Amino acid sequence: VLRVENLWKSFGSQTVLRGVSFTVRRGEVKVIIGPSGSGKSTLLRCINLLVRPDRGRIELEGIEVYPRPAMKINKIRERIGFVFQQFNLFMHLTALDNVRIGLVKVKKLPPEEATRRAVEALKMVGITEDLWHKYPAQLSGGQQQRVAIARAIAMEPSIILMDEPTSALDPELVGEVLKVIEELARRRTTMLIVTHELDFALEAADEIMVLDQGVIVERGSPEEILRNPKHERTRRFIERIA
Ligand code: ATP
Ligand code: MG
Repeated sequence: VLRVENLWKSFGSQTVLRGVSFTVRRGEVKVIIGPSGSGKSTLLRCINLLVRPDRGRIELEGIEVYPRPAMKINKIRERIGFVFQQFNLFMHLTALDNVRIGLVKVKKLPPEEATRRAVEALKMVGITEDLWHKYPAQLSGGQQQRVAIARAIAMEPSIILMDEPTSALDPELVGEVLKVIEELARRRTTMLIVTHELDFALEAADEIMVLDQGVIVERGSPEEILRNPKHERTRRFIERIA
């Protein structure tokens, strides 16, 4: 369970998050949509402490993350998977080693056990054996992002945060990545996903939250939000990205 309560964040004089509160329970998939600059990335970055919030409370599995991290920040980050827009793979490591490295260095698994788990994760995201020893530069964007997802799930985090995981991909590669994320959702992987892929949200999300100027202006089932948005700004935004 991730609990975010009354979270505030400013950069200089610009207030980017204005009292954001929500909960993601185990096995839930929540999607955040909202216009550019509304604070979506900042919100995700606050949750794994890449950005330090100003005020509020964040708790993961009953452990305080903010304001007083109840354990070392690295220990907290081990519990939180992060999938970035730009994949963020280690370019000097093969696909397999990208997934293995956290298991060896962070989780301290024995090498064979790390390989076994990495292979399992790569299979889950449809990365076949012929690709395991290729470097990121030798992989398509869709393959790289699937390796990044494998890296996240191999660590067995409490929650996976995804920040527009398909928006850097060529259109023909978006589907293969969304299919993998949908499969994770079917397996009840706990996820908080920023995305503008509304068909995906309709398929996979338990709830959609609309962030606008740092405030969650509405939230509800995908059907409610997408078919019958209450706010005029939400309606215009959804029309624009649909
Ligand atoms: P997009 O859809 O374009 O990704 P977003 O909703 O993710 O937008 P954020 O990246 O969270 O928006 O940015 C919200 C606001 O905070 C923007 O005005 C941005 O310029 C500002 N901002 C974000 N990070 C920083 C930072 N490190 N320093 C200063 N300003 C920042
Ligand atoms: Mg963003």
